[in-house]
Amino acid sequence: MTERVITLKSFFEEARAGRLTGIRCGQCGELAIPPKEFCPACQKRAWVSVPLTGEGTISSFTIIRVAPRGHAGETPYAVAVVKLAEGVSLLGRVVDLPFESLRVGLPVRFRPLVKNEQTVVGFGPA
Ligand SMILES: [Zn+2]
Repeated sequence: MTERVITLKSFFEEARAGRLTGIRCGQCGELAIPPKEFCPACQKRAWVSVPLTGEGTISSFTIIRVAPRGHAGETPYAVAVVKLAEGVSLLGRVVDLPFESLRVGLPVRFRPLVKNEQTVVGFGPA
């Protein structure tokens, strides 16, 4: 029997195509994103992949003015923790939203940011 658990690699492949995928624990029902090895709630490994709507609201955000190595030239940019409609939270880069408009509770929508073959989780206007 082959395992059909979504891996971090397939998570980003799906994300690149604009599909956000979470995983739900088959044991206790805990929803997680991005994929983890074991369920943080019950420590089991019984994941089932779940498509997510990609809709959520900002629960916190930070404006990055000094970029990590390799991201110089991209600053300033904002990153936000977004609470998705399904109840899980995900960190992503904020795009197409002026910093002044950012606030806790602002509705946003997932969008993939593809750059140099890398896919990054982004959130733009809902
Ligand atoms: Zn669990």
